[in-house]
Amino acid sequence: MSWQAAENRYEGVPYVRAGRSGLQLPAVALGLWHNFGLEADFERQREIVRTAFDHGITHFDLANNYGPPPGSAETNFGRLLDLDLRPYRDEIIVATKAGYTMWPGPYGDWGSRKYLVASLDQSLKRMGLDYVDVFYHHRPDPNTPLEETMAALDYIVRSGRALYAGISNYNGAQTRAAAAELRRLGTPCIVNQSKYSMLVRQPEADLLPALEEEGIGGVAFSPLAQGLLTDRYLGGVPADSRVAAGVGFLRPEHITEERVQLARALDMVAREGGRSLAQLAVQWVRRQPAITSVLIGASKPAQVLEAVRALEMPPLDGEELAAIETILG
Ligand code: NDP
Repeated sequence: MSWQAAENRYEGVPYVRAGRSGLQLPAVALGLWHNFGLEADFERQREIVRTAFDHGITHFDLANNYGPPPGSAETNFGRLLDLDLRPYRDEIIVATKAGYTMWPGPYGDWGSRKYLVASLDQSLKRMGLDYVDVFYHHRPDPNTPLEETMAALDYIVRSGRALYAGISNYNGAQTRAAAAELRRLGTPCIVNQSKYSMLVRQPEADLLPALEEEGIGGVAFSPLAQGLLTDRYLGGVPADSRVAAGVGFLRPEHITEERVQLARALDMVAREGGRSLAQLAVQWVRRQPAITSVLIGASKPAQVLEAVRALEMPPLDGEELAAIETILG
């Protein structure tokens, strides 16, 4: 008997229109950057993805290079589709990307048409899909004409490999230029995926206003600063944490006394409002009108549930926002 998703799955998270597009995305999305590689416990992966979908998280974010090794998160997601999710394909948004190093030589990196089309074809094969819902250019390429990269996205959509085009790690000016080019081609840019959290606020000055003006949905990645904005590191480095795993960019040297103190102060504000720090961090990112989806990662189903519960809580009030602002300085 195949897996049955919860019948009440659409009672959980709210859906938000991505910019001025027709696509609605769940206010919280699940990313498969960490914890979905070859070495990660597959049954745990399955539980995390099932929990997300059971609670209305329809949006799964991948990239060609997620693993380790690169490609393995897409392969595992393909297995999860086979086991559980393929009957629900039309209820799911699968996003993937290309833009970072994927294979050796001049055609396995950056933003040429050659790389993007070949990479997406590989991604589709790994996941066993005919198309993805969103295909992103993963980072700006200073050496490829923007016109070529955007023409590749336009081609990818027109050829049926993706339904929508997006860009990632493009700043405000780069986003405006990309959006103008895609508009000219007739394939709108509907999402921009960028890092945004209480610890990374650069998008406020430049990117978020551009997204609102251009009608592009903001997808905020690492909203919990990879765990720094949760209770994970308030009392040391747990053995099952991302830092202890030692496979990513979050390293023991990033868990400084100063950051832990800051997290403790934010945790106090969260608790006074009846929230966890992770829930405070989700709500803080979500308060921005330019943000469509808060894109979290998770190593266990309970972390997904905590983010979903955050969406059921009242938004942060003026006093809480002011207290946070004081702490962030
Ligand atoms: P987060 O900031 O949400 O960090 C996720 C980590 O935080 C988890 O693995 C877990 O760490 C910890 N965590 C999550 N929830 C809780 C909780 N409730 N309590 C305690 N700890 C918690 O996001 P990521 O950095 O994982 O990024 C999210 C997604 O964004 C990625 O999967 C990817 O899809 C996308 N991304 C995109 C990039 C781009 O260039 N476009 C770059 C980076 C990410 P632990 O494992 O220790 O339990």
